[in-house]
Amino acid sequence: MAQKPLDLYTLELPELEALLQQWGEPRFRAKQLWAWLYDARVDSFAEMANLPKSLRDRLQVEACLGTLALETEQHSQDGTTKRLYRLHDGQLVETVLMPYDDHRRTACISSQAGCAMGCVFCATGQMGFARHLTAGEIFEQAMRFARELARQGDRLSNVVLMGMGEPFHNYDAVLAAVRLMMERLGIGARHITISTVGLVPQIRRFADEGLQVTLAISLHKATDAERERLLPVNKRWNLAELLAACRYYVEKTNRRVTFEWAAIAGENDTLEEAHKLGALLQGLLCHVNIIPLNPTGGYAGMPADARRIEAFVRVLAQYGVSATVRVRRGIDIDAGCGQLKSKVIRSQPITLQE
Ligand code: SAH
Ligand code: SF4
Repeated sequence: MAQKPLDLYTLELPELEALLQQWGEPRFRAKQLWAWLYDARVDSFAEMANLPKSLRDRLQVEACLGTLALETEQHSQDGTTKRLYRLHDGQLVETVLMPYDDHRRTACISSQAGCAMGCVFCATGQMGFARHLTAGEIFEQAMRFARELARQGDRLSNVVLMGMGEPFHNYDAVLAAVRLMMERLGIGARHITISTVGLVPQIRRFADEGLQVTLAISLHKATDAERERLLPVNKRWNLAELLAACRYYVEKTNRRVTFEWAAIAGENDTLEEAHKLGALLQGLLCHVNIIPLNPTGGYAGMPADARRIEAFVRVLAQYGVSATVRVRRGIDIDAGCGQLKSKVIRSQPITLQE
């Protein structure tokens, strides 16, 4: 049986040097190839003009540049691109690229196929957990956009781990991938955001890493009894434990924490809720991002309306808590977490292995 091609993105430079030496190539070849991968960011061996034809041919047979196969792609009127990739074992994951007017190009990438955390309003949570992604599979999602933007004379500037999956449930692979994005794609730590539903031990571990990567916490509710209903993880680590871990993160890193608030009509958009949230966060170095809920098939909630959100933000200001209302990007192409995958599965139930 033919051997699986070797994914060059999974190799460190010394490993690539050892491989090419084994193939009888001179020492400098590995550095040339490395520059094609991460400086020029080409997507084929044929373009690696200063490598001998014999080496390019061998690479073509025995190696590859990543393992993700593009399953579907959609373009939104607001410029957002949403992709579904098929992994080598048939699992599907989503990534999104969001261009902003200020030249930021932000990739939203996945850390797992599915998710075990079961948040009731989330399309990924509704699917359940399939498996962790490897560091290579996480990195490649960003790499693919970086590669394509390079072709257009542009660059990928930001990455958020807000696609499918809970990044801190797959801690080691996510941290390894984040380091690769910093080293190989030149994305600054502050331009990378990890979003977690609130895994307390990992938040503390992350605070100890000494990285300047931005931490976002999905809060959505300001009391335990109600947060538990929407985010089952709150039964394991309650708000007091979560907030204590956030304070630890701020102390260790001097960075503010971002809290995410999916605004759901009648559920968490009331003035009463705003007062509870203000009181909970008062005095903490933080910022609240409010994103109107993206409705999903398995949950009856609807997005909060803009006027109520404005009033909500004014109450938070009384507590000295800053907040921004975020526009929902790619709303016409199901660009919410897990939504494109759910749609593809609904429309072709037989061809996909789950
Ligand atoms: N698992 C991580 C990161 C992926 S989810 C986390 O939960 O933080 C990224 C963000 O999208 C989270 O804040 C999550 O709560 C939010 N989200 C999930 N489903 C949503 C929906 N239907 N509408 C709005 N936000 C949603
Ligand atoms: Fe998982 Fe995040 Fe969705 Fe919750 S919101 S189910 S943690 S992906």
